[in-house]
Amino acid sequence: MAEKRDFYEVLGVKKNATKDEIKSAYRKLAKTYHPDNKETGDEAKFKEVQEAYDILYDDQKRSAYDQFGHAAFEQAGGNPGANPFQGGFGGGGFGGFSDLGDIFSQFFGGGARQRGNPTGPRRGNDVVNRIKIDFMDAINGSDKEMTIEVDELCVACGGTGAASQSDISVCSNCKGAGYVSVRRQSLFGTVQSQETCPSCNGSGKTIKNKCKECGGKGYNHKRKTIKIHIPAGIKSGQQIISRGNGERGINGGPNGDLYIEILVKEHSYFKREGNDIALTIPLDFVDACLGTKVDVPTVYGDVTLTIPEGSQPGQVLRMKGCGVKDLRSGKPGDQYVKLDIKVPTSLSKDQKEALKKFKEAKKDDGLFSKFKKMFKK
Ligand SMILES: [Zn+2]
Ligand SMILES: [Zn+2]
Repeated sequence: MAEKRDFYEVLGVKKNATKDEIKSAYRKLAKTYHPDNKETGDEAKFKEVQEAYDILYDDQKRSAYDQFGHAAFEQAGGNPGANPFQGGFGGGGFGGFSDLGDIFSQFFGGGARQRGNPTGPRRGNDVVNRIKIDFMDAINGSDKEMTIEVDELCVACGGTGAASQSDISVCSNCKGAGYVSVRRQSLFGTVQSQETCPSCNGSGKTIKNKCKECGGKGYNHKRKTIKIHIPAGIKSGQQIISRGNGERGINGGPNGDLYIEILVKEHSYFKREGNDIALTIPLDFVDACLGTKVDVPTVYGDVTLTIPEGSQPGQVLRMKGCGVKDLRSGKPGDQYVKLDIKVPTSLSKDQKEALKKFKEAKKDDGLFSKFKKMFKK
């Protein structure tokens, strides 16, 4: 994939832009680059602007983009927008037209999709799925496979369900509108309402010979395995988007997207707090008294840590830069090591002798005697 520009840069808005600012920037640019605009039209730029808007105007997608950048949006294997029978725009070519119909009817007199048109292509709904991954896979990133079931737009007929373009004709019952007016007698007189056309089920079209590939449905139900790239540093609860693997679109519209929520399993020893790691290590009291060097496990392997002389039980030492690398910036967090200082429960004769000598060598009465004196005042 070619290097993609930052979506905020594409729309020329700040990272903290409001939805209104995004929408207004998009309107301006889309108007400039729309291919119908004879002076400044530019299809490639128009698509770029459209894609940026599609992501940034959607709160969920925007937050995914803010967290992962373009990596958040895995490209679907197929091209659900490929539709040999519908050229140009409005054919569901690049997804997420949720708001486009509205905007373009204002600019170009309804050149694109008509608002509320039941026979027009509509994007399918987004779907959420979950995947559980190991702690270390979240730290280092990994590639996972996931089996999903998805209705893919039929490539043979481009979603029309017809064997060929000439098999498609306007529904004679509804004249292509997709709905019919129905009059009913009620207690209050004649009531008129609009109902989905029973002849064409709202598509506005009749098909003479059905597509052999999909049997006229316009899509094929597939069970397929998709590859998911899990970026290093991902946190539990964050989502990856697999484009075009959501619910199927309507009337040849593009599929929705699949959101994959990542659930990270806990590690037996490392506890993650943001990009920092907390770890408790056991330490002999002698090592705490005298100080030592120990090779402490980190998520990236052992790192030598100096335990200073006189370290206290429960003391926390910081290992700078030994935490998790940030998903976006790559800047590592820290590891915080808590000392669990152990007092031995059984000592050899030699050890006892050594400790007796230690006690004798002390010049004062000891901590407890000092403590008791406080009560005599
Ligand atoms: Zn009809
Ligand atoms: Zn087909």
